[in-house]
Amino acid sequence: MISEFDLIAKYFKRPAARADLGVGDDCALLRQTTGMQTAISTDMLVSGTHFFPDTDPEQLGHKALAVNLSDLAAMGATPTACTLAVAMQAPDESWIAAFAKGILTLADRYQCELIGGDTTRGPLNICITVFGQIPAGQALRRDGAKAGDDIWISGTIGDARLALAHLRQELILPEDQFQQVLPRLQKPVPRVELGIALRNIAHAALDLSDGLLGDLGHILDASHAGAAINTDDLPISSILRQQDEKWRLQCTLGGGDDYELCFTAPVEKREQVLEAARLSHTPVTRIGSIDPQPGIRLYNAAGPLARTGIHSFDHFATPEK
Ligand code: ADP
Ligand code: MG
Repeated sequence: MISEFDLIAKYFKRPAARADLGVGDDCALLRQTTGMQTAISTDMLVSGTHFFPDTDPEQLGHKALAVNLSDLAAMGATPTACTLAVAMQAPDESWIAAFAKGILTLADRYQCELIGGDTTRGPLNICITVFGQIPAGQALRRDGAKAGDDIWISGTIGDARLALAHLRQELILPEDQFQQVLPRLQKPVPRVELGIALRNIAHAALDLSDGLLGDLGHILDASHAGAAINTDDLPISSILRQQDEKWRLQCTLGGGDDYELCFTAPVEKREQVLEAARLSHTPVTRIGSIDPQPGIRLYNAAGPLARTGIHSFDHFATPEK
C-alpha cells in the first residue's frame, strides 16, 4: 500500500509557483504584498453530510475547492493559495488521482496554488482553506448594506436544490432535465471574476450556500436593515420554471448549494453593476431592495407573500421539510 508521504509527493506536491515555499516543509511561505489584505476562509465537506459517499471523486475535488473559492468571490478577493486537509479510509489510488485532478484543475484555473495540508486516515472528510488578496479596505463585507440599496444576485438559483430533490426522490424529474440541473449541485462555478469586478461598487455581498432567505438574512443582520424581494424577479432556469410554485419557492428561497453571489449596491451604481457583470461574463438580476425595517418582505405581482414552510439550510436546526 502506498505510504502517506509517497501519496502526498505523487498527487499533491508540485513545484511552488507563486508561493516562496509550498508542499514539503513544516509550513508553506507566502509573500506579502504591500497595501493588500489577506482574505482567508475554510470550508469542510463531510461524507454523508455534504455529499453522498459514492460521489465521483473528481467532482468532489472540484466542489471542495469551488465552495471555498466562492467565499473569496463573495469578498471580492483574488485567490492566491489553498491548503487541503483530508481524512480517508485506506488510500485508493485511483480515487485519490481523480480527486486531486478535480482540485488541481480548478486551482490552476484561478492560479490558486496548493501549498500544503494534512493527510490522515479516518472517515472521509475534506477541509480546504483558501487564501486571497484584496486591496486594503475594499473587501465586500456583509455589514455594508444601506437602506435604498438594490439587491442583486448572479446567475440563476434553485437548480442545485432541484437536483437534490430528485436524488432524494422528493420529486421526479425527466432524465434529461435531471442531467441538466445536476452539474449545479456537483460542479458549482465560483463567481470569482464578478466578485473582483464588484470592488468599489457593491456595498455588501455574500455567496448563496444555504439558501437565499437565510443567507440574505446574514447581510441584513450584519447591516441592521431589512429587505423587500419580488419573487417574480428571482432568476431561475427554464427547468425550475416548470415546477409548481411550492417547489419554485422552496428551491429559490430555501435551497442551498447554488454558490451564486447576492450583493447590494446603491441605485446610482446600476450601470456600474451591469458593466461589472459584462466584464466578468456573469449575468446579474435585481431582485429587490434594502429598507430600514428589519425582516424580509416577499411579494409578487399579486401582492404580499407568506414565507411559511420555507427554511434555509442549518446543520443544527430541524431537518428541512
Ligand atoms: P507535518 O507532520 O510536519 O505536519 P506532514 O507529514 O503532515 O507534515 O506533511 C508533509 C508535507 O506535505 C507538509 O508540507 C504538508 O503541508 C504537505 N501535505 C500533507 N498533506 C497534504 C495534502 N493533502 N495536500 C497538500 N499538501 C499536503
Ligand atoms: Mg501534518
